Amino acid sequence: MLETKAIIEYEQLARSNQPFMQELEQAASRVIQGGWYVLGQEVAAFEEEFARYVGARHCIGVANGLDALILSIEALDLPPGSDILVASNTYIATILAIVRAGHRPVLVEPERATFNMDPALLAASLTSSTRAICVTHLFGKTCRMDAIGAFAREHGLRMVEDCAQSHGARLGTQMTGTFGDAGCFSFYPTKNLGALGDAGAVVTNDDALADRLRHTRNYGSKQKYVNRYVGVNSRLDELQAAMLRVKLRHLDAMTAHKRALADVYFKGLPAWLDLPVRRDDEFDVFHIFGVRHPQRDALRQHLLDQGVKTEIHYPIPPHRQEAMKGILSGDWPVADELHATELSLPISVGHEMADVQAVIEKIANFDPR
Ligand SMILES: *Cc1c(COP(=O)(O)O)cnc(C)c1O
Repeated sequence: MLETKAIIEYEQLARSNQPFMQELEQAASRVIQGGWYVLGQEVAAFEEEFARYVGARHCIGVANGLDALILSIEALDLPPGSDILVASNTYIATILAIVRAGHRPVLVEPERATFNMDPALLAASLTSSTRAICVTHLFGKTCRMDAIGAFAREHGLRMVEDCAQSHGARLGTQMTGTFGDAGCFSFYPTKNLGALGDAGAVVTNDDALADRLRHTRNYGSKQKYVNRYVGVNSRLDELQAAMLRVKLRHLDAMTAHKRALADVYFKGLPAWLDLPVRRDDEFDVFHIFGVRHPQRDALRQHLLDQGVKTEIHYPIPPHRQEAMKGILSGDWPVADELHATELSLPISVGHEMADVQAVIEKIANFDPR
């Protein structure tokens, strides 16, 4: 029998954007012909539409997700060098933002089953300098904001949410981004709501915080040539805002597609793999479908040999990064374990049920011993 080498890519952005091509081209053309390219009507409209989608009073567009985090943490006006609790296995951006805002990241280990910050470990990490918690809703799953929020209130801590992977994810009926003081989003092209370049936003219900961010993203100025704060240039482009407005209209459908692909994985994957945990009150958006196995590297090679491309999120934990020497120290065995065993299976708008079925079949013929 002649075997055709069908490759299943991890992600193909052109394919994921193809269904919206006509709408994207029309929106781009509108912006180009409009002649206004940075912070204009498209940005204002996207901010309003995204705030409404998330269920927050304000949305402030910025240049990327990292800036959304840095500017939000900075706007809390905490004493310089405050301790901020953050998950030991988060993507490095959350930790970089804390450091860039002039504070000290204090790591808290995640739950193995969810990859999210373990609320039961918060108390042990509290110091007299702790002023805030930065949660990351990793892989598109909400953190336990009920327990974490209660802890924050009890100890008078501010709360910033890293929502770069959780567009539309909910705990109960409440969307991520609305539990804390600020919800920070990235619209990097691979994210669940992805632009065609860099983009980000902060959502908040705090009027003063929103006003501060409207200044700091633009040189500390809301009124031309009047500077109220020491700001940065982290503005959102009209072109990206216009692309995001198109894709926001399809976000629920894109999420439904990813959740349907996840259902196929849940039904078909073998019992020897550790699958993502699903709980009744959590609406997961599966930015990443991360499974765990002790033979992760062998399984990854096995899949690659059969034309299935996978990813690892992430290969190196924050406390082992060279950049974090002198900033992070100590032993973080859960983070180490997750980084050594996680494998991300293909799940995107560009994948079909048959792709996922093919991945399942190729996993099934791996010898897991
Ligand atoms: C992508 C990402 C960011 C950073 O977003 P950028 O837009 O790339 O700056 C921050 N945190 C998490 C968890 C992310 O996945």
